Amino acid sequence: MIRNIAIAGAGTMGNGIAHIFAQNNFEVNLIDISPEKLEEALQTISGNLDRQIAKGLITAEAKQLSLTNISTFTSIKEGVADADIVVEAVTENPELKLKIFKEIDEYAPASAILATNTSSISITKIASATKRPEKVIGMHFMNPVPVMKLVEIINGFLTEPAVTQTVTELSKQLGKVPCVVNDYPGFIANRILIPMINEAICSLYEGIAGAEEIDMIMKLGMAHPMGPLQLADFIGLDVCLSILQVLHEGFGNPKYAPCPLLVNMVAAGRLGVKTGEGFYIYTPGNNKPAVSKRFTK
Ligand code: NAD
Repeated sequence: MIRNIAIAGAGTMGNGIAHIFAQNNFEVNLIDISPEKLEEALQTISGNLDRQIAKGLITAEAKQLSLTNISTFTSIKEGVADADIVVEAVTENPELKLKIFKEIDEYAPASAILATNTSSISITKIASATKRPEKVIGMHFMNPVPVMKLVEIINGFLTEPAVTQTVTELSKQLGKVPCVVNDYPGFIANRILIPMINEAICSLYEGIAGAEEIDMIMKLGMAHPMGPLQLADFIGLDVCLSILQVLHEGFGNPKYAPCPLLVNMVAAGRLGVKTGEGFYIYTPGNNKPAVSKRFTK
């Protein structure tokens, strides 16, 4: 039975993953190399629980209970020692993931499942850094984790069916909807989403329409809650570019070649929401971003 959860990485995704496990009464060890990130994560979780109280979704007691379910660690060795499952959500960097998985494999109990929240790195490759590839699996949560229903579960080449079954059940216990897929570049979510975003950027680059028109067409025409260019800003243009590169290299198909405009924007440091400007300009406290002048028609 799964009771103890270790989460490696307390950034955007790690704090959301800690939030939902703690809220569902699991014991959570949240691990980050940075004590400041751990402190920030606890504050974010507390703020997000407050929002749930304000909406009448949970009580103040439930908030306290959730927070007491979380312990923080700066050492992988101590943080994973009692884990039934480790969910890794550190920075998306292949060398770092391989190094961390080697370490997690060394210190987590032999029976523990090792899951990764990677957006694009091969699960099979990550599993190869461990001595238990049959217990390594993708558990791809969506951002923001407390809100988004989907968990894309990715079977590595050697993942055991019993491990997939356990992670599927666990996702349901979190109130999520699991979908199981196989390990090929981009899995399913990003294989379909990121080329769509690239196509939207190419349409803008070719001057077919302005950013606002492109986003409006996809919002009103396809009932998408957010247009592809705004979504790209939200994901981070650097993240979009690196996923496209994985697709391009992984399939060797020119249809995945990143749009030159995307490449230029990343080189210029216009990465979207996190840098204050991408296709739109983001000012604190203003939740209706303006289209960057450069991208109006
Ligand atoms: P982030 O940069 O917000 O957080 C990464 C955290 O990892 C940081 O707090 C950093 O201090 C920590 N870290 C780095 N090296 C470490 C180490 N050696 N040991 C422990 N902690 C370490 O990143 P994020 O957006 O939360 O992404 C995390 C993972 O989730 C990535 O694999 C990413 O691809 C994936 N993902 C992200 C999103 C998204 O929308 N942000 C969505 C789905 C999946």
